[in-house]
Parts: sequence; structure tokens; C-alpha cells
Amino acid sequence: MAQKIVAGNWKMNLSLKEAIDLVESIDQEDLDKDVRVILFPSTLYLQALSEKTKLELGVQNFSEMDKGAYTGEIAISQIRSVGGSIGLIGHSERRMYYKESNDVLKAKVNQAVEEDFDFIFCCGEPLEVREGGREMEYVSRQLKESLFHLPKDKIKNKIIAYEPVWAIGTGKTATAEQAEEMHKNIRFWLKEKYGEEIADSVSILYGGSCKPQNAKEIFACENVDGGLIGGASLNAKDFTTIINSFE
Ligand code: PEP
Repeated sequence: MAQKIVAGNWKMNLSLKEAIDLVESIDQEDLDKDVRVILFPSTLYLQALSEKTKLELGVQNFSEMDKGAYTGEIAISQIRSVGGSIGLIGHSERRMYYKESNDVLKAKVNQAVEEDFDFIFCCGEPLEVREGGREMEYVSRQLKESLFHLPKDKIKNKIIAYEPVWAIGTGKTATAEQAEEMHKNIRFWLKEKYGEEIADSVSILYGGSCKPQNAKEIFACENVDGGLIGGASLNAKDFTTIINSFE
């Protein structure tokens, strides 16, 4: 069975002191022990935060190169050296504002696999695609072009986050039915390509205005294994309520 996961994407928010305070507040709460909790703060704060918490820490982006003359980029080995163990790949804000293509994302997937670095692969359709009824085709293509080239043993236990772009930071959440419909399809595509055992080992997270008020209903869906949380992860009480929202 897929692992239950709740991850917080802090994006470009918080000072170092605010980040430390937030981590300490989350640490003081009673968290469901069956849930893997991951935080994605600013990469700048990884070292300081890793000295304060046992919670898993990751990065919101990383380079597809291993090292060298790539000004401004950060390599997996450097991330590891300051306490990061996992990275997001293909968040819609990276795709949209930094023009990360399916090819670049495939290279990041390959680099992560090569260096045995864990990742959450993000996918999701923009509003006009959903309005045109083409969301299944769109998401399936994102997966096929950047992730589904991996062999069976490399996709086992991996993490995919479905984040409809129209629901990110907008306060507009997908309904539990809309989330489950896409998650069920993602599981089906995994099954088609890799077989049932592998498909069932992959955690499929929902992201997009997930809040304490709707987390229970979304997490109760058969094919939803947790959430990737933006705004609500900046508040310790809200985030921990979401973590504790599994049945
Ligand atoms: C996100 O950015 O991954 C996200 C889901 O954001 P929010 O929860 O704020 O919609």
C-alpha cells in the first residue's frame, strides 16, 4: 500500500527566524505517526532547520546537472550536504514562470534517479485545459513525457502530486470527486505501464487550496494518499490539522 504523505511547500515565504519558529511549532504538535511529513522551505534555510528538527526537509527545485559552471543552480549533492533529502520536480509555478519543459523535467527525474535522491513529481492542468475537457490527456502527457520512461524498479514507491493549476493559491479547491477521478486515472496509467503492485506502491498526493476544512474529505478518497500543501502549510495549527486528517 502507498505511504501516506503530507508535504508543505513554503515557496518564497518566511524569514529564517519565522521558518525556525514554524518548524518548532509543528514539532510541538501531536502528529499522526503513520504519516510521512515533509517540509519544503527556502533552500537557504536547510542547514539551520536541519539542526532544529527531525522532520524531513526538501527543496522546491534542483539542478538537472551534477556540478560545474551553472551559475545560480543548486546540485543534489549540495542539497544533501545541508540536510535536504527530497526535491519537488515540475511544480506548476516552475513550469509557468521559469518555462520548465517536460524535457527539462525528465532530465531532473533522471538526475534524481541517478543520485538516488527522492522526489515528488508534480503534474496538473491549467484552467483552459479543464474547461476544454482535456485534463486527462494533458496530465497523462506530462507523466508520459517526463516520468514514465523510468523502469519498474525506479518508479516503485515514488510520489506523484496532482495539482490542478486553477486550484493552486486561488482558494478554489477541486472537489473530492474531481480529485479522485484524476487520481484513479493516474493509478490506472501506472497499472497499465508497470502492473498492479508498482501502481499501488506509488503515493499520489493532491495539491490545490487544501485546508483543514476540506482535507478530511479529500484524504478519504480511495486513490488520494495525502497532500502537497502551499498556503495552509505556513500556519502550524492548520498544517498539523491537515496531517492529522486521515481516517
Ligand atoms: C502548492 O503550491 O503546491 C499548493 C498546493 O498551494 P496552495 O495549497 O496554496 O494552493
